[in-house]
Amino acid sequence: MKFTSSSQAEALARVKTHPYQATSFYLDTDKSQQSLKAINAAYKGLLNQARLKLETKDLSRELRKSLLDDLDRIAQFCTNRLNAWKSPGLAVFCCSASNFWQELELPHGPRNRLVQDFDFYTRPLYSILEKFKKLCAFLVNRREACWYEIHMGDIRLLDSLNSDVPKKVKKGGFEGYESKRIERHIEALLLEHFKKAAQKTFEILKQNHFDWLFLGCDDQFYPQLEPLFHSYVKDKLKGRIKARPGTETSRVLQECLDLEDRLKREEEASLVKTFVGELERGGRAVAGLADTLRKLNSHEVRHLLITHNFSKPGRVCPGCHGLFLNEEVCPVCKVKTEPAVDVVDEAIEFALNKNIHLTQVSSPTRLEHYGNIGAFLKFKPQK
Ligand SMILES: [Zn+2]
Repeated sequence: MKFTSSSQAEALARVKTHPYQATSFYLDTDKSQQSLKAINAAYKGLLNQARLKLETKDLSRELRKSLLDDLDRIAQFCTNRLNAWKSPGLAVFCCSASNFWQELELPHGPRNRLVQDFDFYTRPLYSILEKFKKLCAFLVNRREACWYEIHMGDIRLLDSLNSDVPKKVKKGGFEGYESKRIERHIEALLLEHFKKAAQKTFEILKQNHFDWLFLGCDDQFYPQLEPLFHSYVKDKLKGRIKARPGTETSRVLQECLDLEDRLKREEEASLVKTFVGELERGGRAVAGLADTLRKLNSHEVRHLLITHNFSKPGRVCPGCHGLFLNEEVCPVCKVKTEPAVDVVDEAIEFALNKNIHLTQVSSPTRLEHYGNIGAFLKFKPQK
């Protein structure tokens, strides 16, 4: 099943598997970013870690069996299906003892994770939802207009409009005054058509709470159309596309997704640029895993930046939950720290729990030259 809306995540969060525990499994299956071999190695690694972790857990025989069965079913699913898997992400939610299984095709590669707990772990689904903008494509020519909604890689026609604007008068078809009069009449009809279309665009944007508007129209019409847009519409207008009324839906979708991707990358690049500027000025920023974790531990982080799917093993303090790269002993509690398979993932959880702003930047990015992780700080660091 494709993952397309928050209602799916909400439904999963409501599933009760008590007295058994639930397994949530996320795998980045984006074959444009990595080889199938790397994807296979990643899922096997997750399953092995989960098996080792189960050995240390104090569970009844029945509960343990259900969790082990989950791991076996996931292993089997991956063996059978990953070869032909097309989506950039996979999520599986299962509980063998209560006979629950759901797989989701994700439109974006998640962080690799396997969580066995009392409920399904659905937070990554919400981060994917946040990543996707709700787009409106407004296509218009001299007779027609249509509006599409594009969200999470899907497209649907919202509305269309047909106006009876005749073709332009052929030169020499009419004489002098008569010809000019007809031309003016046609111009008036065309303006009326654009006015109607602009008004409808405003209504559609208001009703559907779109993030961005993309416009497909000929250059010659743009100067006539633009002044007719309500300021609310102008604010949402983020770019122009080549599609026109009548363009195949799949092409409209592809063009919008490409533009969305380009705009998002520009946003990320400009954020990273600001970050690098702040860092090099010695301002309120920090880079690199060890230093960023230190600032997270001391609650000085305002906005955390991470290269998408950057991960590193580290250590966690069982007392204060402090995160470390190497420290064997927590400097605050003086107790022995415990190994964490992925301390970056722990940092993300920490940020989400504390409502710290979090941006996961797509690769390639300048952030990679700064240790793949950094943060804007609340205060200027003390030298
Ligand atoms: Zn501690």
